[in-house]
Amino acid sequence: MMKKEALKAGILNALHGVAPKPATPQQLHQALGETVMEAIAPDWKKSMDAHEHSRRACYFSMEFLVGRAVYNTLLVLDGEPCTCGRRGCWEAYSSATALIRQARQAAAEHPESLLAGAEEITGKTVFDAADRGDETANAVVDRFCDYLGAGVTNIVNALAPEVILIGGGISRQGERLLAPVRRYVEKNCFGGKDGAIPIIAAARLGNDAGIIGAAAL
Ligand SMILES: [Zn+2]
Repeated sequence: MMKKEALKAGILNALHGVAPKPATPQQLHQALGETVMEAIAPDWKKSMDAHEHSRRACYFSMEFLVGRAVYNTLLVLDGEPCTCGRRGCWEAYSSATALIRQARQAAAEHPESLLAGAEEITGKTVFDAADRGDETANAVVDRFCDYLGAGVTNIVNALAPEVILIGGGISRQGERLLAPVRRYVEKNCFGGKDGAIPIIAAARLGNDAGIIGAAAL
């Protein structure tokens, strides 16, 4: 228990810049993903068994709900078409498919961009072009992180989870994705920096994990 408390304090301090930071963002990313999963996975199971109505059980159920219910909450009225048949869902703005659509639109408007010259646009292409300093790609990535952050903020405001794990192929982009999402949530969630800011990290459950809600460490 002591060890878990210490881990949690270390993670929180690292995230919020209270304590000296770990050596590199990559190391932090690694540590967060694995540590958080290791620490909370047994708790999810226990909570589900013992307290179906509890806060933690609610987090647990998000594993199942996020793909369908939360991911398809409205982000933009009359927005982009979503695979569920509605328009403007969060999913229509913050999935890999959405990122590719946003990048194609930007490429058409900015023929000088690396994106316009790419043979095929994937999520990775966009992040790679951004890494190489392409302005258009960086603008697309920044906007995408805002969309993701906006949806995460909705979850934070509604459920106040302690941890939010982001899965899917794009979560492999690590801090280029996670840091702006954290900034967005801190700036926009209910209560701002004093609000119920969760740990936001990359999931380690593979591509189909989606965004997984979380539990007390
Ligand atoms: Zn939808």
